[in-house]
Parts: sequence; structure tokens; C-alpha cells
Amino acid sequence: MSPQAQAQLTCKEFVELVTDLIEDQLDAALRLAAEAHLGDCDGCEAYLEQIRQTVAALRGLADSGDFTRDRERALAAFRELRADAHGNGNGAGRSE
Ligand SMILES: [Zn+2]
Repeated sequence: MSPQAQAQLTCKEFVELVTDLIEDQLDAALRLAAEAHLGDCDGCEAYLEQIRQTVAALRGLADSGDFTRDRERALAAFRELRADAHGNGNGAGRSE
């Protein structure tokens, strides 16, 4: 009967959203619902943490695995860019 019920996710729904949540792709209502579910559900909280670590590990592989040689070139280029741009960049966060 609660109007809140509409915003409650099942675990299955949460799992389907979790990658979008990590990538910050959820719209506000879904993100709130996901966060509310996390508050109630230890299982999904642990699952989210697991997925986060997996995603981080995959990114680490992409950074340091087969791309090692290119990475050195990229880093050198990046340093030049930074020297050029004088703090105009948006940090070392996500990039495409
Ligand atoms: Zn759950």
C-alpha cells in the first residue's frame, strides 16, 4: 500500500542495474531505488563491491596488459599534453 513500494527493487532488478550504477548511467530515480535497495540488502551490497572490484581489475588489465608498450607512448604523449594544456585537462579520471 505504500507509495514507496513502486521504487523498491528486487535483487534481480538490482543485479540488472548494477553495471549502470557503477558507470553512473542510471537516472536519478533508479539510482535512488538502487541505493535504497543497497541499504536494505547486504547481499546486493557485497555483490556491488564484487562487481566494482572486477571492473577495476579489468581496467587495470587494459592499462597494463597487452597495452604496455603503447601505454609508455601514451604516457609520454599525455605528459606533453599536460605541459601544453597547463591544467586545462579534467584529471586522470575516466576517459574514453
Ligand atoms: Zn538485494
